[in-house]
Amino acid sequence: MSDLTFETHAHPARRTSAERAALMENPGFGKVFTDHMVVARYSAGRGWHDARIQAREAIPLDPAAAVLHYAQEIFEGLKAYRTADGGAALFRPDANARRFRLSAERMAMAPFPEDSFVAAMHKLVAIDRDWIPDTADGSLYLRPFMIANEAFLGVKPASEYLFITIASAVGSYFKDPTGTVTVWLSEHFTRAAPGGTGAAKCGGNYAASLAAQAEATRQGCEQVVFLDAAERRYIEELGGMNVFFVFEDGSLLTPPLSDSILPGITRDSVITLAREAGLTVKEEPYTIDAWRADVRAGRLTEAFACGTAAVITPIGTVKGREDNFTIGDAVAGPVARRLRSLLVDIQRGTTQESHGWFQKVF
Ligand SMILES: *Cc1c(COP(=O)(O)O)cnc(C)c1O
Repeated sequence: MSDLTFETHAHPARRTSAERAALMENPGFGKVFTDHMVVARYSAGRGWHDARIQAREAIPLDPAAAVLHYAQEIFEGLKAYRTADGGAALFRPDANARRFRLSAERMAMAPFPEDSFVAAMHKLVAIDRDWIPDTADGSLYLRPFMIANEAFLGVKPASEYLFITIASAVGSYFKDPTGTVTVWLSEHFTRAAPGGTGAAKCGGNYAASLAAQAEATRQGCEQVVFLDAAERRYIEELGGMNVFFVFEDGSLLTPPLSDSILPGITRDSVITLAREAGLTVKEEPYTIDAWRADVRAGRLTEAFACGTAAVITPIGTVKGREDNFTIGDAVAGPVARRLRSLLVDIQRGTTQESHGWFQKVF
């Protein structure tokens, strides 16, 4: 246990309920921010200190801060949900805390105590409770992150870090939450390499994925499917979501975790829920050639992406330099729909669950 305590310095002038209502009417994703944020500081001599909940504001940063030069940055993403009784709940925040520590270790950053991470999420949700949408697709998206803010241009792990969590009222990630997405097969750009940082949730992985994302957008696709960097054959994941395939016998397959695939908490939850529902889930390598052939032969009935932001989003069409194939009728399939409701019912507390994933905030 750490003994980091968060001092609360409430915002002196929160937005009014009318201002909030106007902002939350059509929040989109990641642009409507709450009144507060969590901040904590680390220095090599003192460890983590000066933890507080305070007014959300700009952060002063020395132009020599290490993050601006060598990209020591990690982040997380989790949601708080409005429950039927007017309360709020988090979904598996301890799993995010653990992954945040593992990401920090990979990036040679100071690990943030896991219990303090979970406590910080609870405190931010509690103080900004009025910003949690009560719509079916709405939630409060929490974005914890850490940056190296030591002012030093030498190349080494920094000795000072800043932990911050901001929160954003969000609707659904994709424009049409009941529809499917079209994905672009990236045959030139890769996202992560063996021995690299693909399994860490760091901003650098996203920077590396954006040229492929821009290519996808030019091709009329919403997301990118990345192949493995060594052979360009095995499907790894989407830019920010893991991927599942469903076969005609009802079984599921997802690529096995490696140091180039982000270990999604949604991925892990889907595997558990599918197995509990009696479905077979394989964690096995799957090639683009197999995907193409299985769709053509009618053996593959569904494919879907999953992650905290997108929940479970079916893949309708796959495009590539030489590909353009559609899965089923490009509509949400029964397996994706069933797993989505099993997951969402736990997240929103409308069903009992025995995993300890559902954590009431108030
Ligand atoms: C965050 C993320 C995911 C999904 O992880 P969840 O814990 O399910 O939200 C998948 N892939 C990448 C690259 C990610 O950054």
